[in-house]
Amino acid sequence: MSTPTDTAIEIHDPATGEFVGSVRPAGPDEVDAAVGRARTARDAWARTAPGDRAGLVRDAAGALRGVAEEFARLNETETGRPYDDALGGVLAAAGTLEQYAELGPLHRGRSLQGSWDATDLMVPEPRGVAAVITPWNDPVAVAGGLIGAALVTGNTVVHKPSERCPHLGRRFAELVASFLPEGVLEIVDGAGPTGAVLSGHPSIDLVAHVGSINAGRAIRQAAAGTGAHVLLENGGNDPFVVDADVDPRWAAEQAALGSYANGGQVCVSVERIYCAAAIAEPFLDALAEEAGRWVYRPSAAGEKALGPVVDRRHREHVHSHVAAAVEDGARVHAGGFVPEGEGAFYPATVLSGLTPTMTILREETFGPVAPVRVVEDFAHGLAEAIDDPHGLAATVLTGSIAHAQQAWRELPVGTVKINGVFGGAPGGAAEPRGVSGSGFGYGPELLDEMTTTKVVHWSPLP
Ligand code: NAD
Repeated sequence: MSTPTDTAIEIHDPATGEFVGSVRPAGPDEVDAAVGRARTARDAWARTAPGDRAGLVRDAAGALRGVAEEFARLNETETGRPYDDALGGVLAAAGTLEQYAELGPLHRGRSLQGSWDATDLMVPEPRGVAAVITPWNDPVAVAGGLIGAALVTGNTVVHKPSERCPHLGRRFAELVASFLPEGVLEIVDGAGPTGAVLSGHPSIDLVAHVGSINAGRAIRQAAAGTGAHVLLENGGNDPFVVDADVDPRWAAEQAALGSYANGGQVCVSVERIYCAAAIAEPFLDALAEEAGRWVYRPSAAGEKALGPVVDRRHREHVHSHVAAAVEDGARVHAGGFVPEGEGAFYPATVLSGLTPTMTILREETFGPVAPVRVVEDFAHGLAEAIDDPHGLAATVLTGSIAHAQQAWRELPVGTVKINGVFGGAPGGAAEPRGVSGSGFGYGPELLDEMTTTKVVHWSPLP
């Protein structure tokens, strides 16, 4: 059994186009063998004391800190993520592994009040073998969270990292696995076809997928045939609503940060902007100015790092949304073109003159593009923000308590951010809605997703 995974996956540095390396995707037999090893290791790992499991995960986190700079450079080479951001992602992964090492042994069930001579318990148990399938845009942090939570709750894991950063994915998983008993964390290389085999494997008990909506749909269907629990954190189309009473320059800074950070390749990147007409002109002018500050290698005060997008295939996707909008009458205030030269660069872009049905407003662009739709007022912006099948996150900027209250109540998304495009308190966890997925993909509640609850009714012999 070999097809369709025979063709080697080649990675090129998206900044220079230089060849980085290649990996051979795992075929069905290799996936089956990896799942088999994880299944063999399952019972012993489930019976290992939670404190001992946590200790091994904590040790792995420490080792990850020791190689954080090396991993960040590899992340930059494979996906174009600017080094400082990449380093932040690796350190976030170490922090998350440490958090789950703390929380895992504290994750607990309940005792129930039954009859005096009976014992009634609700006990969390590991689900079994977890398939953890992850994307490239924050690869170590995302994989670290899911793998950490799965391991501390007693699951064994088969991990398939993204085919767009396979060397980093393998290095990370091998580092963690080196602290664990054999078979507890298995790794398979490959792209969608390998992921499809893994997620449909009958011995997989949980599929945790972070990635695109289409892949998530395929995984949901595959798991429907096996009964595996499915956790999907998929694409978004996050709105950003600007009220007439805010400072347009500050609003533009927030919009630029949300649209251009990590090249717009963050699951909660700003994907569509609704600006009240009263401040639209100064807002658009300031946003175009902000776009000019996002450059490849910042050298002046106020400049921010904008790497290339992940590869040329993805750049084509980003530009196709922009080009279609322009063809249908959008106005370009900044960027909007495919630069000449090596790599997969795309400039920070600002568009206006958009209509609600344009693809750039209806689908995830996942690039450094800020599409602005000028609306009559906040109420009209909020109504258009709500009218969308995605449900990941949303931002509103407003000084009005009534508008803020209406927005967080009515937006059908997992996370609502008021007056700040990024940030939030530690410990927060939200479930995506609509086509963006289902289940808690992070936070303490991820431990609940990784376990299944058994109720025990224990009566004395008559
Ligand atoms: P992707 O879905 O193409 O790939 C993600 C992973 O899924 C990869 O490992 C890939 O090989 C695998 N895969 C692809 N098709 C599959 C299939 N049919 N069966 C099983 N596995 C399959 O996504 P991507 O391009 O790597 O990542 C970008 C997407 O991820 C964006 O849509 C972004 O919004 C989303 N994302 C979401 C979150 C979140 O928390 N909601 C976080 C990060 C990224």
